[in-house]
Amino acid sequence: MIARLIADARKVICKFGSTTLADKDGKINSDYLAEFADQAAGLIKGGKHLVIVSSGAQVAGLSTMGKWARKRDLHYRQALCAIGQVELMSAWRRAFDKHSLHIAQILLTQDDFGDPIRTLNMRNTLFTLVDEGVIPIINENDSVSVEEIKIGDNDTLAAQSAILWSADLLILFSDIDGLYDKNPKEFPEAALLEEVRDIEAARQSISIGQTNSFGTGGIATKLDAARLALLYGIPTVLTHGGRPRSLEALAAGRQKGTIFLAQMTNLESSDRSDVSPGSR
Ligand code: ADP
Repeated sequence: MIARLIADARKVICKFGSTTLADKDGKINSDYLAEFADQAAGLIKGGKHLVIVSSGAQVAGLSTMGKWARKRDLHYRQALCAIGQVELMSAWRRAFDKHSLHIAQILLTQDDFGDPIRTLNMRNTLFTLVDEGVIPIINENDSVSVEEIKIGDNDTLAAQSAILWSADLLILFSDIDGLYDKNPKEFPEAALLEEVRDIEAARQSISIGQTNSFGTGGIATKLDAARLALLYGIPTVLTHGGRPRSLEALAAGRQKGTIFLAQMTNLESSDRSDVSPGSR
């Protein structure tokens, strides 16, 4: 099902959480970025359009300014993001350079999505970049975002960006294979939910555990993001970004994930339950 969705999608938006982008020393994992860029280049050659939503500015800032690790003050955290955003984007640039693909940075806040003129400008910029073969890389503008104008997590930002760009598919790369009935990090026996059609029912039926230390969203915001995207008809896949060549593996049907899809229409469900070959 996921492989088919990717095959059918022309406009794909991929979001990476901080934990997926960082290596075990807390630095931006350049090898990982290079591997993704390689797969993305293949996808683009095959005629698909790609937008990336990338977390990781704070992680990159911290590894650059190690001595600030303990500073909790808002302005220091915003300063860290300002420093780290440069590091993050140069890591992405190096990764895509090898494929002669240009990238572009777009930093957004909640305010931008609430203002029709800005929204129109953002949309036009996105379309222009992608039409010209450039890969837009979106992040929240953390150094100007205070509580009132913060989106707060990049899952929601990814869903809002997917809607803005009228994407066909949103892929959330995280450090788990998908949505489980309970936190797989705490409960190894947790069961993966491979297809979710009713997000609210799923939310009620699972237990939600803790997020990673750098993760600002957690599973709850991934469900919110999938719900928001689906309101605009955009399916979402939640999957592990750390598996070998995960984008290609997904496209080839070799990698697991949770797919969030619209509830089946009567026609679809009768289609599915109808197994008698002669009656179609
Ligand atoms: P990211 O940085 O990729 O956005 P987060 O740390 O925000 O990721 O959220 C993913 C984490 O959510 C996982 O590492 C997992 O431990 C945790 N989690 C809690 N409850 C669940 C659940 N029911 N199913 C899957 N993951 C869960």
